[in-house]
This record gives sequence, structure tokens and C-alpha cells, in this order.
Amino acid sequence: LVPVFLHLYLTRSVAYITLPSILVAGPAGAGKTALATRLERQGPKPADTYTSQKINVVELAVGEDAAASQYTDDLDSSGAVAKKFLLVDTPGHGKLRNATALARLDPASTKAHKLQGVVYMVDSAALGEEAGSDSDAGLAGAAAYLYDLLLLLQKRMGAGNSSKAPHTIPLLIAANKADLFTALPAPLVKAQLEAELSRIRTTRSKGLLDSGVGVDDVDAGAAGAEDDDWLGEYGSKSFKFDQMREFDIDVDVIAGNVVGSDGPGVGKWWTWIAQQI
Ligand code: GDP
Repeated sequence: LVPVFLHLYLTRSVAYITLPSILVAGPAGAGKTALATRLERQGPKPADTYTSQKINVVELAVGEDAAASQYTDDLDSSGAVAKKFLLVDTPGHGKLRNATALARLDPASTKAHKLQGVVYMVDSAALGEEAGSDSDAGLAGAAAYLYDLLLLLQKRMGAGNSSKAPHTIPLLIAANKADLFTALPAPLVKAQLEAELSRIRTTRSKGLLDSGVGVDDVDAGAAGAEDDDWLGEYGSKSFKFDQMREFDIDVDVIAGNVVGSDGPGVGKWWTWIAQQI
């Protein structure tokens, strides 16, 4: 009888443990669902995906040695000590973003409690296409969503200046579809996004800097509430991902591919994820 109760006790208590989580965000068509499916299956072929309307959560595990962990490891058979976590794949469509992906970054949300990292997926081939293709996954669409996400991460870090600062949430920009020969390499993906984010910042801050206050007059303390909506280093001419360090946010850009055998695959993304868990 004792083992039965012990078993019940253990299984019941397990249900209340919040697992660490990794949020997967990005424009529609970037490959988020394909990634979640591939990591879940641990097989070489992702299933056909459909336009996801809902949050898709998959439970995964990393080996104890994060750096050596591979997503294909069979943790059960090796008897390894595994750390479980949730990969939360969110819909990329504009209208659904606020309620799903972005709401999870709110420090007041219980969902943000154990959020250990964000993977922002982009389609590296769509980023290189001529402007004018106004697909969600193109440069303008990919950067606009990323801008909102980065600004939320930044505000989150600034919000807790009185009490204890919230834990940092690092960001991986997963430059997907590296198997396609039209895909931009990671350094170009980074540069293109930085240029577009700079442009968006200029547009959105019109009036902020034109209010008669010169950039040189602005010091961090006196800038007040206005700089809250400025992404990155206040008053800087162009946006660089490095500027997020000021807010304790690390940004990495790593190329990979979920589909196809040409290309780096998902291994480096997995290593990044494993190191956040
Ligand atoms: P989501 O909207 O971000 O969830 O994107 P999906 O996972 O639905 O993927 C959109 C499309 O891109 C699907 O047709 C996938 O098969 C395709 N796709 C995903 N990853 C890759 C990749 O690495 N390379 C190529 N060539 N296609 C991919």
C-alpha cells in the first residue's frame, strides 16, 4: 500500500511543477511549427505543417551536460539525467501575436516566470527577396514583429528598477532555410534586420527627437519617460543588436535549416536552447 500512495503522491506533485520554457516566435511561414515538430519527433523529417492558429507546446529534454547535448540523444536508453522543458510554438499571424507570444513576455504573466529564452525564427531566403513582396516573412514583416518583441524585452528589464530585477531572457535569431541557395548567410541576416530595425525606430520615434531636445542634451537620467519607447541605445543613429546588452539581453544570430539535408541543420540552435535550460 505504501508504494501505491507514494506513487500517487509523486505523480500528483509532479503535475504542479512549472517546467522551464523556450518561446518560439516569428512571422508566419518562417518554420516555427516545422522546428517544433522536428525536435519532438527527433527524426530527420518534419511532418507537413498547417497554418497554426494556436499555441503548440511540446515537451522536450536536454541531457545534463548542455554543451554536449544533441537533440537526437536518446536520454531514456542512456539512463541520463535529463532536464525537461517546454518549447512553446506560437502563431505568427499579426492578430494573434499579442495574445500569444508577446503576452508571455509580460513579467506579470505567470507564463514569463520560467521563460528561459526566445527563439525568433526568420526565413533567410524571404529576407533576401526584392522589396515589394509583402509576405509576412519578408524583411519588413520580420523586422516589425522583431521590433515589438525586442522593445518588450527591453521594457521588461527596465520595469523592475525598484524591486528585484526580472531574470534576463536571451534571444536567438534562428536564420532558417539555410538549405535554400537564395538564403542570406547569418551575418547578412543580422545586418539586414539591424538596418530595417533602425528604419522602424526612426519612423516610430518621429517627434521624440524632434521635440527640440538635441541628442547631445539627452542624458540617461533626464530623458525621463520618453526614452521608454526607444529601442536600444538612446539617441544612437543606427540600431545594433549589441545595444541590447545595456539591458542585459544577449542576441545571437545563427543560421540553420529544419528541412533538407544541405545546410547546418538544427544542431546549433539546439545547443543554444540546451544552454538556457
Ligand atoms: P510557421 O508558420 O513559422 O510555423 O512555418 P511552418 O513551420 O509552417 O513552415 C512554413 C513552410 O516552410 C513549410 O512549407 C515548411 O516545410 C517550410 N520550411 C520550414 N523550414 C524549412 C527549411 O529549413 N528549409 C526549407 N526549404 N523549407 C522550410
